[in-house]
Amino acid sequence: MKKRVLVWFKNDLRLLDNEVLFRAAERAEEIVPIFCVDPAQFKLLPNGLTKTGSFRAQFLLESIEQLKNQLQERGGDLIVSVGLPEIEIPILAKEYNVQQVFTKKEISPEELTTVASVEKALWKIGVEIDAFSTSTLYRATDFPFGIKDIPDVFTTFRKKIERETHVRPSFPIPELRFPKLKESRVPSLIELGLTMPTLDDRSAINFSGGEKEALNRLDYYLFQSKAVQSYKETRNGLIGSDYSTKFSPWLALGCISPKWIYHEIKRFEKAFGENDSTYWVVFELIWRDYFRFMMKKYGSKMFQLHGWKNAQEVPNRVDERLFQAWINGETGDEFVDANMRELKLTGFMSNRGRQNVASYFVHELKLDWRLGAAYFEQQLIDYDASSNWGNWAYVAGVGNDPRENRVFNTEKQAQQYDPKQTYRRLWLEKN
Ligand SMILES: Cc1cc2nc3c(=O)[nH]c(=O)nc-3n(C[C@H](O)[C@H](O)[C@H](O)COP(=O)(O)OP(=O)(O)OC[C@H]3O[C@@H](n4cnc5c(N)ncnc54)[C@H](O)[C@@H]3O)c2cc1C
Repeated sequence: MKKRVLVWFKNDLRLLDNEVLFRAAERAEEIVPIFCVDPAQFKLLPNGLTKTGSFRAQFLLESIEQLKNQLQERGGDLIVSVGLPEIEIPILAKEYNVQQVFTKKEISPEELTTVASVEKALWKIGVEIDAFSTSTLYRATDFPFGIKDIPDVFTTFRKKIERETHVRPSFPIPELRFPKLKESRVPSLIELGLTMPTLDDRSAINFSGGEKEALNRLDYYLFQSKAVQSYKETRNGLIGSDYSTKFSPWLALGCISPKWIYHEIKRFEKAFGENDSTYWVVFELIWRDYFRFMMKKYGSKMFQLHGWKNAQEVPNRVDERLFQAWINGETGDEFVDANMRELKLTGFMSNRGRQNVASYFVHELKLDWRLGAAYFEQQLIDYDASSNWGNWAYVAGVGNDPRENRVFNTEKQAQQYDPKQTYRRLWLEKN
């Protein structure tokens, strides 16, 4: 009997620098690649929001389709099954007679619960599951401290890991062998109960999902345009695609790894020199890591009103009228409104915008920050549980910001970052 491993793809939709795939190819004679589309991820929630909105869902479906094509080009396929992973994975494991299931390690409570249910179901049919860490720049196991001792202040954390550990090399695409795999297709947005989003020509992010597009964007941002050389000066911009890297949607779905980005930046620095800007992209990727490690450290506390800090006097108002005004960009604060309209019409908003609208939501409207975070979860093309809930908690003052009660003055911010009102006019003059 041939040794077979089922590779359960989740948010690691790539071939390059994917340890799950690399280890599976190393240990098995044949691999069975699966992606499970769980309809629960697209459902309408009791709060009236959809768990995954159209922008993100479309990017996800494009990314799955591309992975399927890439595997087909190598003589295999990606089996796409629609249903609960704890039902689908064991059925396929049995059908293909696999001895093991390999997948990526999870950190947030919801994903951990799903993996635990799959593990339990697999255990009943005598199949083991093994997980590999694929989504961070640094490895927690390389740290000079355990997860529970990770510093709660970002700068302390960053300095320590930069000094005492290093980024590991990337994994190459392994040679892949497959058994005969059954036909399947990627469901459409309509089949998932969603509608096709309309493209807005003002969008900062008219990109498609998938590993090839991610690698093209990386190449463009570094080697073709050399925009990376001025990232630190432009990163607080608001209009267009090049003020920041726009790597986030691909990172969120694992179409590219932060490690791969890091090593490409090092290659760029060797060829063209390093400066504050080339380093600053890495610095931001460390922030991304940090929220992941905080999620691992604090788990479900990251989703609670008072946060892991157990902060007191956190606004917790629920007011549907104010909530809808914020969503629709009709609060009367022009900077907030312009940003919220961009998010609604494109699925993207700059980092500067996100900080302002989140701060306004919590400190001006005094609404329960978890509702704002849930709207971001629906709407953001780059939604990522740790980055989203971690950043919201930070702005709400219940997370990692060591400064107490930091409130963004949206008027001042508008003057500083949109002095000629170009951004506000762009989004407020036409709907
Ligand atoms: C309230 C709020 C919610 C957010 N929700 C998300 C989210 O769901 N998903 C997400 O990827 N980012 C989130 N961010 C962080 C940040 O706004 C986006 O990562 C960034 O705007 C994406 O654009 P970019 O790829 O061009 O970023 P760049 O400025 O080019 O940064 C490069 C990469 O660094 C990482 N990064 C940058 N800033 C942050 C940050 N503050 N926290 C974590 N990672 C960061 C991202 O992976 C990003 O792609 C949120 C920020 C706030 C304030």
